[in-house]
Amino acid sequence: MSPTLPEEATSTSSDEPVRTDMIVIGAGPTGLFTVFEAGLLGLRCHLVDNLDKPGGQCAELYPDKPIYDIPALPRCTGQELTDNLLEQARPFAPEFHLNQQAERLTRLDDGHWQLVTSIGTVLEAPVIVVAAGAGSFVPRRLPLPEAEGFEGTSLHYAVRKMEHFRDRRLLVAGGGDSALDWLLNLQPIARSAALVHRRDEFRAAPDSVEKMRALVAAGQVGLHFGQIAKLHGSDGRLEAVTLGKTGGGEETVECDTVLAFFGLKMELGPLASWGLNLERNLIKVDTEAFETSQPGIFAIGDICTYPGKLKLILSGFHEAALMCQKAHKYCRPEQKLVFRYTTSSTELHKRLGVAD
Ligand code: FAD
Repeated sequence: MSPTLPEEATSTSSDEPVRTDMIVIGAGPTGLFTVFEAGLLGLRCHLVDNLDKPGGQCAELYPDKPIYDIPALPRCTGQELTDNLLEQARPFAPEFHLNQQAERLTRLDDGHWQLVTSIGTVLEAPVIVVAAGAGSFVPRRLPLPEAEGFEGTSLHYAVRKMEHFRDRRLLVAGGGDSALDWLLNLQPIARSAALVHRRDEFRAAPDSVEKMRALVAAGQVGLHFGQIAKLHGSDGRLEAVTLGKTGGGEETVECDTVLAFFGLKMELGPLASWGLNLERNLIKVDTEAFETSQPGIFAIGDICTYPGKLKLILSGFHEAALMCQKAHKYCRPEQKLVFRYTTSSTELHKRLGVAD
């Protein structure tokens, strides 16, 4: 189900700042189409997204549902649209910084912007494009007061590197696709693996549920029905958890790692403190260039607001095209922008890699 993202197009944190033309916050449909429009003008993009895959709401909330109002595409699913946008952006070699939130934004002495993500990736560019939809998709956390003390060491809400879980005594919490997929993927390398879910009904794909039940029957995976009620351990090192059992009573399960998948929620997050002109958690922009109150910072797609705004994918596409015209002035102040059609411009054919 995940889109075909080339391995070399994804990167993680490094000490050297990444320098590019445009830093795009959000790899939803609007962010992905920005890569294409920017690419036609000769501009490179790096994209940052909280999620582990591109596609935003389309890939996360409705990958299999058909969309009927994309111009000239009478019907395509959320995932098909994402895959097509990735294919269309491919000639312009976008780089993705996934599984990380855009956190700190500062203006440098040369007027460029520096963005630091939640895992320490540093990116610098003359232009920031906020294509953040309704905000970051963030995991719902374990609602226990002691949980924070274990987060990042023994309690995780996502898997960044499978190796991190080798030889762990793992308890996976949840009943959806993420919980079951990671249980099945990590069980072979974990020292022990167990699943806890509120009831004996799973939202995950039937095939995954069947595989999980086979492992339980073979004694290779533990299965518990209940909710995590208490975490035991010290200095961030987990030793056991107490489960409140669904039928009543409590049970202690020994484990050193909990992977909790309770779904995602959306929140504006750090963007709210960047000094942008906000109106009801949306960023106000002009309709000529979709620039915010900060020069060089643009906002497009669902996150922006202006009189008459429609939260539709096609609006994001239109906003991306116009925004790139102004962004070009920041990235290439010495160049005059010439309007060209993709059908007839040899220059654009070269950029698209379709020239004879
Ligand atoms: P999003 O798709 O929301 O993507 C934004 C991305 O930014 C997310 O991946 C998020 O994780 C990331 N992000 C946000 N903040 C940060 C941060 N600080 N750091 C890192 N990453 C961040 N529209 C239509 O046109 N037609 C339809 O038929 C249609 N059907 C829909 C059905 C459903 C069920 C839903 C929920 C929506 C539907 N929509 C439809 C709306 C459409 O999905 C949105 O308009 C579109 O996804 C907006 O695209 P976007 O790129 O602006 O934002």
